[in-house]
Amino acid sequence: MLDRSNELNAWDRNHFFHPSTHMGMHARGETPTRVISSGEGVYITDTNGRTSLDAFAGLYCVNVGYGRQKIADAIANQAKNLAYYHAYVGHGTQASITLSKMIIDRAPEGMSRVYFGLSGSDANETNIKLIWYYNNILGRPEKKKIISRWRGYHGSGVMTGSLTGLELFHKAFDLPRAQVLHTEAPYYFRRPDRSMDEEQFSQYCADKLEKMILAEGPDTVAAFIGEPILGTGGIVPPPKGYWEKIQAVLYKYDVMLVADEVVTGFGRLGTMFGSDHYGMKPGLITIAKGLTSAYAPLSGTIVSDKVWQVLIQGSDQMGAIGHGWTYAAHPICAAAGIANLELVDELDLVKNAGKTGAYFRSELAKAVGYHKHVGEVRGDGLMAAIEFVEDKDDRKFFDVSRKIGPQIAAALLERGVIGRAMPQGDILGFAPPLCLTKDEADIIVTNAVHAIRSVLG
Ligand code: PLP
Repeated sequence: MLDRSNELNAWDRNHFFHPSTHMGMHARGETPTRVISSGEGVYITDTNGRTSLDAFAGLYCVNVGYGRQKIADAIANQAKNLAYYHAYVGHGTQASITLSKMIIDRAPEGMSRVYFGLSGSDANETNIKLIWYYNNILGRPEKKKIISRWRGYHGSGVMTGSLTGLELFHKAFDLPRAQVLHTEAPYYFRRPDRSMDEEQFSQYCADKLEKMILAEGPDTVAAFIGEPILGTGGIVPPPKGYWEKIQAVLYKYDVMLVADEVVTGFGRLGTMFGSDHYGMKPGLITIAKGLTSAYAPLSGTIVSDKVWQVLIQGSDQMGAIGHGWTYAAHPICAAAGIANLELVDELDLVKNAGKTGAYFRSELAKAVGYHKHVGEVRGDGLMAAIEFVEDKDDRKFFDVSRKIGPQIAAALLERGVIGRAMPQGDILGFAPPLCLTKDEADIIVTNAVHAIRSVLG
């Protein structure tokens, strides 16, 4: 192939508006750029021939790993037979209908229908509209506010960026919009009172939620959205008893639970869904990433039977639902989804995520937990994080300007392993493909130890 590295570099700096990137530094050439050209298994390779072990599976999405011929063939065959037809007014394709059935077969009990989108963000926008519609049909026009958590991540659209509880996604965007409220993050390591045990902290979170609902008026609060385990906000598993106590409050005030399973759906925690893993009973579930392992953009809202019954009543009263995307249930993406879910089963990846995940997290804790600047090693399934602190005993955090997390992620990359510096803290995150082997887990751990020592001694 023609070597275009020099041209690509200039075109990239001059024409490509990258998401989540320091625009000025990138355009001026002050930050590195990397052009990825291929991937195989858990490895990616760039145009300079440099290979890295991708211990974040892209953006925790390439669950089956790179280079899967089966999915590539499914995409090619679908493109040849029927690249597109829409899903409006009752139309479908073999791929979109089959995939709906496969999702419901795997979903937690009581789930009924799938509405397809293209990204986690648009699926959560769909959720918000369905929640509002649902309450209008039920004759509760005031019940519209949605509560999410600080440090939750639900996308970067207008409403979903509002739901996201991270400063960077609000600042200078006039977000969050009205009707979105944020409550305490279930972040045990950062609990306000260190004498609390996990159960007490969970109760504290549930009490704060209840106070918020009462202060706003239960008749105005429609839903609560949460990731089973906080992802982008720091890879933080819920403290003991958290979901049980939160759901008791939601039930008391008839507030719908939305489980955002964009990261956890289809195996990442060693169970098909995080809702099953933590005993959550959602009215709606958001899915994306692991649905196609990012071989094609596809997301969805899984609607519970309880919600579905009300939605049907809505169209009986008002006609067809006024909500749709041109590319909803795109057949090429659906074909990728089918092949991907088949592969997840064939390779027993859900089980592997649980088994290799437990091994990886325990090796990581053994290897770095002793370090005086490692405050916590945490995670669940194939999600793990190391949080760095200046002083362990006083739980004193580093000054953000020192950029300890990004420095360690950069040092790790230098050594050929990709981890992610998570926002709002010095946190190194891992979420490797679900096909990770023990040997590959060892490579991540060994290099993490060296990277941490190179920055923190
Ligand atoms: N929800 C969760 C839990 C996510 O982690 C993400 C993305 O990382 C999203 C929603 C948004 O998905 P997308 O980036 O596909 O819009």
